[in-house]
Amino acid sequence: MKAHILTIGNELLIGDTLNTNASWMGRFLTEHGFWVEEVRTITDQYDSIMQSIQYALEHADLVVTTGGLGPTHDDITKKAVTDLFQTDLVLDKRVLNHVKNIFRVRGLSFSSSNRDQALVPKGCEVLFNKMGTAPGMWLERDGSFLAVLPGVPHEMKYLMDYEVADKISVLFPSQTFRAVRYLKTAGVAESTLSDEVIGDLSGYLNSGTAIAFLPGPSGVTVRVSTSGDSEAEAEERMKPALDFIYKQAGSLIFGEGRDVHISEIVGKILKKNKLTLAVAESCTGGMISDTITNIPGSSDYFLGGVVAYANRIKVDVLKVEQDVLDQYGAVSREAALQMARGVALRFGAEIGVSATGIAGPAGGTEEKPVGLVWMGFYLPDRIFALRARFTHDRLKNKQRTVTVVLETLRRQLSGLDSFPYDLKPIFS
Ligand code: AMP
Ligand code: MG
Repeated sequence: MKAHILTIGNELLIGDTLNTNASWMGRFLTEHGFWVEEVRTITDQYDSIMQSIQYALEHADLVVTTGGLGPTHDDITKKAVTDLFQTDLVLDKRVLNHVKNIFRVRGLSFSSSNRDQALVPKGCEVLFNKMGTAPGMWLERDGSFLAVLPGVPHEMKYLMDYEVADKISVLFPSQTFRAVRYLKTAGVAESTLSDEVIGDLSGYLNSGTAIAFLPGPSGVTVRVSTSGDSEAEAEERMKPALDFIYKQAGSLIFGEGRDVHISEIVGKILKKNKLTLAVAESCTGGMISDTITNIPGSSDYFLGGVVAYANRIKVDVLKVEQDVLDQYGAVSREAALQMARGVALRFGAEIGVSATGIAGPAGGTEEKPVGLVWMGFYLPDRIFALRARFTHDRLKNKQRTVTVVLETLRRQLSGLDSFPYDLKPIFS
């Protein structure tokens, strides 16, 4: 079962719009048992749309296109498809009523280009788009299938999830079952995790088991996947690899699942132990608090945070001593410790954490280079600071700091004695 993806739109080629549809559809089709052989991105040009769809239909069992279905003059995918299938555009009454209704509800006037949204190639099956005005279309040629979908990401996803998924489960019943596990780590470099911690995996890669290291801003995910004739068989087949990875890296894996975030795990630990947390942030500008509050129910353990950017705020609000700032500077172990302690006492929290650093890209000195971050931890029974040296990229420095703070909390509160990226704590 081979699939080709075609993403259509000038904006994708010139870098104005990130082609998120391609990656989303690639994952979707893979999860539905397809081998995604090719992704092409092309301009809104009649000839290239025709030729690319033609080529894809000759080479794949399933072709999915997105883009070029809007009501404006540059959206010509529908015309190209209609001509390629040597048919005509006809009005679909159900779509017309739907489009008219959307305009009525929104109080907008209805024009002829909006009416054109309800035209579809004769003989196609309409994939009814509840989320928008452009219908999706389903066609067949010589045993290959074509899904033509709008470019707006949530409309495309809706049609894939509700219309295309049903079609492919009937037309391409899967003989193989896939099992996928996502093991999440934070605060360990990809190369350290793969080369030093986990080590040689070659013995586990036969029998169809694949292992991939996927680095992201909040950590490295290890994806283990395999297939089998039944779900149980697929699960059984990947077990030796999973057991080995857990044996080698168990304490670094904070959870499982593609979308599980370190902040969720830290939240669970805080809640279970009935601990509350307050945050004092300088270089992260609120990102630690933001990340923590992305988790529903965080009000159970998160009391609040202070973005203490100016030194005066560090002194006035967090009770950092002016002498400390004068003597050691705002980016220092002493300042980080006082910020963490200060916010915990001020908010009446059992735990206070802080971050103060040189986010960059400018502002570094030899003694305090760009990327230098001090993080303070005020815990019920100990207080310490961590010194990290990140990159020259401002946003990445903020993200890394958030990850290290959260992963440090996880390890400390779980009784693990190692620190993220092997950072050395300085206890006070
Ligand atoms: P269209 O169907 O070409 O009118 O696309 C509508 C909107 O969807 C465009 O303005 C883009 O913002 C967005 N879009 C189109 N194609 C993609 C894609 N491949 N990935 C992400 N967004 C897209
Ligand atoms: Mg377009």
